[in-house]
Amino acid sequence: MTSTTQTTLELTILRHWIGGKPHEGSVERWGDVYNPATGESNTRVAFATEATVDEAVRSAAAAQKKWGAASLAQRTRVMFAYRQLLDKHKAEMAAMITREHGKVAADALGEVSRGLEVVEFACGLPQLLKGEFSENVSTDVDSYSIRQPLGVVAGITPFNFPAMVPMWMYPLAIACGNAFILKPSEKDPSAANFSAQLLAEAGLPEGVFSVVHGDKVAVDAILNHPGIAAVSFVGSTPIARYIYEMGTKAGKRVQALGGAKNHMVVLPDADMDLAADSAVSAGFGSAGERCMAISALVTVGDAADKLIPKIRERMAKLKTAPGTEPGADMGPLVTKEHHARVKGYVDKGEAEGAKLLVDGRALKVPGHENGYFLGPCLFDNVTRDMTIYKDEIFGPVLSVVRAKTYMEAMELIQANPWANGVAIFTNDGGAARRFQNEVPVGMVGINVPIPVPMAYYSFGGWKNSLFGDSHVHGKEGIHFYTRGKVVTSRWPEPHHRGVNLGFPEMK
Ligand code: NAD
Repeated sequence: MTSTTQTTLELTILRHWIGGKPHEGSVERWGDVYNPATGESNTRVAFATEATVDEAVRSAAAAQKKWGAASLAQRTRVMFAYRQLLDKHKAEMAAMITREHGKVAADALGEVSRGLEVVEFACGLPQLLKGEFSENVSTDVDSYSIRQPLGVVAGITPFNFPAMVPMWMYPLAIACGNAFILKPSEKDPSAANFSAQLLAEAGLPEGVFSVVHGDKVAVDAILNHPGIAAVSFVGSTPIARYIYEMGTKAGKRVQALGGAKNHMVVLPDADMDLAADSAVSAGFGSAGERCMAISALVTVGDAADKLIPKIRERMAKLKTAPGTEPGADMGPLVTKEHHARVKGYVDKGEAEGAKLLVDGRALKVPGHENGYFLGPCLFDNVTRDMTIYKDEIFGPVLSVVRAKTYMEAMELIQANPWANGVAIFTNDGGAARRFQNEVPVGMVGINVPIPVPMAYYSFGGWKNSLFGDSHVHGKEGIHFYTRGKVVTSRWPEPHHRGVNLGFPEMK
């Protein structure tokens, strides 16, 4: 691998990371990685075959035997060292993300920092892995619970958070004593190798963390490999469903987080300046390519008439530019295809009768004519039968849906097939409390538009936003990456001897 801070003319070759180093083996297929701000590609990434995945699993399985038996103190030291290195190099990692994903520098740095919080949570592993002990559950009999690693586990991750989403997974999986194989998105794969490098520098034994790059071939090899005990996935809903079905059929433990269509409800009594700031930040941050982005702005009663002018005022000040440019609020979309897709949704919204108040389609960024830029778009009078309401757009398109009453807004959310995040804006504590109780969504914000839980809580949606039982990180993450065992023990005294065919009764 050449340096990742080379000039645009230099070609970077990104290989898999197996056995603690870049993989030297022959590569049958390669993918091109683009800079979305320029439309140029100067990175080629290796695509794994079934044989490459098998090689990674063998190396991981051998490493896991020792790592799983390493003391809690040894594992904790590695996590602390990694935390320090990541903190030291976070700007470097953020620059890599901006180059391949397109998000603005501050947002990329924020992503690394949110990932870092999970590493910090994982540093508490001795506390997190504590079991329970009951003395004398019967006369002279004790009982205790322990949690053990699963073995080799894998993570398959999306393009939109190339550093943070993998960090929802591998710090906890590794802290729990597993070996982890990461299959990052082929669109922005460099952050994965950089993490591998830093983990090695932190003293993680070789083979405990591996990276296999690629597409469906690599993913299917992971799903079919008998040596992988569990799979964590984050990505779009159709693929999440596929991963869950295939993975569980192959006997694996699976958590598969899918897409989203997040609603933000604004009641007429809300602080409209706060609601406008929040709608614009959450609708257009990262060009709308966040699974927690606000996509449907549901205004109740006359809230829309007060809110929309304030939103337009703020949108007029947004600067869409390359993520490296100072003052840029929003970068380009990730690929040419995705740009065309999102633009197509704006066309469709207009054709289906929604009122396009702000049109970002004509935006040109001087000097970056081949970049995948789309300016922020705002629709009013969007209805539930329109494609822009029904589909996940994953771009800078905010749709105002007018509801007459709170119940009408709630019914929209209840009927929606996705249920990742949701928010309510109001100054009425009773209304907010009722909302949090009855809304069927995994993560709820009250006057907070993107309610992403901290690392010590768990992150995950309901309905088509999650297949499986466990959310990621927090206690549920520890639970997902370990298996429970309960020991009942007695150190026999003579009076306990003798055959008894009855079901043991605790005395
Ligand atoms: P994606 O589903 O296209 O890709 C995710 C991963 O699956 C990638 O590693 C990709 O290589 C792999 N993949 C793609 N097609 C595949 C196929 N046919 N068979 C097997 N594997 C395949 O998602 P994306 O476009 O990278 O990311 C955006 C999506 O992720 C959005 O839908 C977004 O809502 C979702 N997302 C959800 C969360 C969440 O927490 N729920 C978080 C981030 C992103």
